Amino acid sequence: TAIFSDRRNSLGLNMNIHSQADAFIAEVASYRDHQWQAGPIINGKTLETHHCVSITSPQETAKQIGTISWGDKALAEEALMIANKAYRRWRDTDVNVRAQALERLADLLEENRNEFVALCCIEAGKVMQDGIDEVREAVDFCRYYAGEARKMMAQGVTLPGPTGETNELFLEGRGTFICISPWNFPLAIFLGQIAAALVTGNCVIAKPAEQTGLIAYRAIQLALEAGIPGDVLHFIPGSGAEVGSFLVSQEDIGGVCFTGSTYTAQAINRALAARTRAIVPLVAETGGQNAMLIDSTALPEQAATDIVASAFQSAGQRCSALRVLFVQEDIADRVTDLLVGAMAELKVGDPLLHETDVGPVIDGIAKTNLEQHINDISQVGRIIAQAKMPEYTNGGTFVTPTAIEIDSINQLVKENFGPILHIIRYRADNLDEVIDTINGTGYGLTFGIHSRNETFAADVASRIEAGNVYINRNQIGAVVGVQPFGGRGMSGTGPKAGGPHYLSRFVTEKTRTNNI
Ligand code: GLU
Repeated sequence: TAIFSDRRNSLGLNMNIHSQADAFIAEVASYRDHQWQAGPIINGKTLETHHCVSITSPQETAKQIGTISWGDKALAEEALMIANKAYRRWRDTDVNVRAQALERLADLLEENRNEFVALCCIEAGKVMQDGIDEVREAVDFCRYYAGEARKMMAQGVTLPGPTGETNELFLEGRGTFICISPWNFPLAIFLGQIAAALVTGNCVIAKPAEQTGLIAYRAIQLALEAGIPGDVLHFIPGSGAEVGSFLVSQEDIGGVCFTGSTYTAQAINRALAARTRAIVPLVAETGGQNAMLIDSTALPEQAATDIVASAFQSAGQRCSALRVLFVQEDIADRVTDLLVGAMAELKVGDPLLHETDVGPVIDGIAKTNLEQHINDISQVGRIIAQAKMPEYTNGGTFVTPTAIEIDSINQLVKENFGPILHIIRYRADNLDEVIDTINGTGYGLTFGIHSRNETFAADVASRIEAGNVYINRNQIGAVVGVQPFGGRGMSGTGPKAGGPHYLSRFVTEKTRTNNI
């Protein structure tokens, strides 16, 4: 077994130490009335365009927190041209130089942590702890991929050959990667994709989620400050339908890295297939219909804590979040009673307050869809618990964390990306059917199991088609280099982010045979 121990993850901040936490909270909260400005960055320069978008906060939708200039097709075309010109120079730059730039970026992220946490809270509606974890994950991605790239690329591999002939195998970047990222990890996933592509010798055009362009802009500024050349990394905020679709249909791109919905990943796949020249890779990480199974030997208290974290942390807006809980009939009442109690303790509210557990969902469209789902599903199911909503919501897009009992996973038509937990009771003699229905969703991202029967847990875990399986703990918050993250089937292509194989999809190989 290989243990990768030559690197340490970032420590973040321990919010239980008051001397650290108080100053931190005050500084983060001091950004409450800050105004941010952002725009496309092409060739190292920020541009203002005629399409200026006002950004508001999910917890106070009437309040502007900044503006961002959106780019369009013409800018995307220009960026791609510049990036493709820079590509050979960057590809042939020593991997140590590229890795050092990422390590410097990691340091800059740590130095600017509080502003990024504030942006996570204010622009993305994340609670403070999620903001801290987000910055930490972004830092870890930069350092981890820097280390992995050094291991993979610093030297070619020498292969055997007949006398007089040398054979070497090298890895090199593929061209310009189009990185399209989601709003739910507006810093960590945004930078994780970019770091992986850059360090392996690719140029990058980054298209952030429409909802979180301000955070992304600040991250790109730091990347440039860290030493990534301006012609190598370009940033184009804008509409997915315009900028994103345009970029992924271009012939002269090196690959696409995408995190978001399965539907969009499939559309990108079709756009890539319709091109007529180079066949390029798509690294896609998409959604899930993630299940947890609790058998009668589980510890109900531990299970309840882990259910709440898995389903409601980050307002359920994680790809990894628990959506469908299968609980064995014999223990179901005990578990649901504890869950009702735990949900009554959840504090929904302002992300800039330390005591808040659950912030708003990302925007009004998400809120409407999620509330519609609660409404529809409660026609066929039974709501067993709802958390208390804040008294004053300031027009914030809060959705009541809800647990609802249903009969079958087939009553769910799609992934519901928010704080909604579905619960299904099962009998021990129906276990095979339960496993079949979980696998039958076609998704395969995370799966959790609570059981004190080790053999049983291992057996179920091996039969479930999921990329990340967690036994007797919550199923969110995969750690870089510790729990490589990513799914299969409708949940994504792999390789796993934060794992030792991720970079392999960003490179191409060259064998050099030399007959001397
Ligand atoms: N890596 C995150 C986790 O384990 C989820 C990433 C996502 O939501 O895309 O919770």
